[in-house]
Amino acid sequence: MDHAASPGPVLRSALDAVPAYTPGKPASAPEGVTAYKVSSNENPYPPLPSVLAVVREAAGTINRYPDMAVTDLTDRLAEHLGVPAACLATGPGSVGVLGQVVAATCEAGDEVVFAWRSFEAYPILVQLSGASAVPVPLTPEGRHDLDAMAAAVTDRTRLVLVCTPNNPTGPTVGAQELADFLDRVPSSVTVVLDEAYLEFVMADDAPDCLALWRDRPNVVVLRTFSKAFGLAGLRVGYAVAHPTLAAALRKTAIPFGVNSLAQVAAVASLDAIDELDIRVTELVAERERVVGALREQGWDLPDTQANFVWFPMGDRTPEFAAACQEAGLTVRPYGVDGARATIAEPEANDRLLEVCRLWLDSCGSGSSSGGLNK
Ligand SMILES: *Cc1c(COP(=O)(O)O)cnc(C)c1O
Repeated sequence: MDHAASPGPVLRSALDAVPAYTPGKPASAPEGVTAYKVSSNENPYPPLPSVLAVVREAAGTINRYPDMAVTDLTDRLAEHLGVPAACLATGPGSVGVLGQVVAATCEAGDEVVFAWRSFEAYPILVQLSGASAVPVPLTPEGRHDLDAMAAAVTDRTRLVLVCTPNNPTGPTVGAQELADFLDRVPSSVTVVLDEAYLEFVMADDAPDCLALWRDRPNVVVLRTFSKAFGLAGLRVGYAVAHPTLAAALRKTAIPFGVNSLAQVAAVASLDAIDELDIRVTELVAERERVVGALREQGWDLPDTQANFVWFPMGDRTPEFAAACQEAGLTVRPYGVDGARATIAEPEANDRLLEVCRLWLDSCGSGSSSGGLNK
């Protein structure tokens, strides 16, 4: 048979609309310059010794399947969060859990409302399901426009995604505006509150998403061990949902999706939460230092509550990312919207401040380029 001439397997047409996920690039730098990867919002700290120890031990039994029910971690999370185990569903990263939410709620013809720009996995997962993405533009301050999002909900809407703090811009939604928003969304529509960066939030008016969940059967809180807990490479996240929905999320999970190393590492991380809290406090202090210094330089930036800073550079985004790269900082550019830089080790943060200062110097004040207020 002439394989070259055959048209090949027939694929779902929904795939045509699916954008490819662009991961943060690995670090690279000109010779003699230390390279820092600040493109993926990873935790710059290495794994805790206590976490590494359980991972090493568990590595000795990777010939066995993991516990499919993720029992120990689920019980530990239930205790930690003060929710029944029946209200939890785990998955391979919270992106994996979000895939389970989409699989449980969406089919072709349905609509999913989310803010844009937001987490780039959203349109991918939605369009893979055959549902239609309904992106609602952020405000000029990089915030969710919850009024516009409520107005975008139709009788075809099955799912709404709220990212707080928003990746890549940084602000949280307000507690009151989120409560008002949830009051406007029909209870038949599932609302995901994606709190991937929860641990870094210090804003007084940030929502208590678990409290909102308690009162509302259609709310799902999504969390991850990838960012503050520093387990991005192991892939584990979870959802808090009411029992029927949580059971649906366990049903749509890929069997054995949470691997055995991730399960023990997540439990050990909950055991070491005080040590991890110190790291988070230090990263938040670094964030405040960086944001304060950038504002002093003259940058007009959104209010970030996460472990990254957003530079709304407009069409100068590629040029800005290249300037960072030249200095050994791999940031994450998003088309002609802006660039995101992760708060990392102090040396990397200092480097960012330096690049930003030189950038402003070379623009001269009074420039109209994106991101400047003077
Ligand atoms: C990083 C991130 C996640 C979680 O990713 P996982 O590694 O899959 O847990 C989820 N949502 C947002 C907005 C993120 O930025």
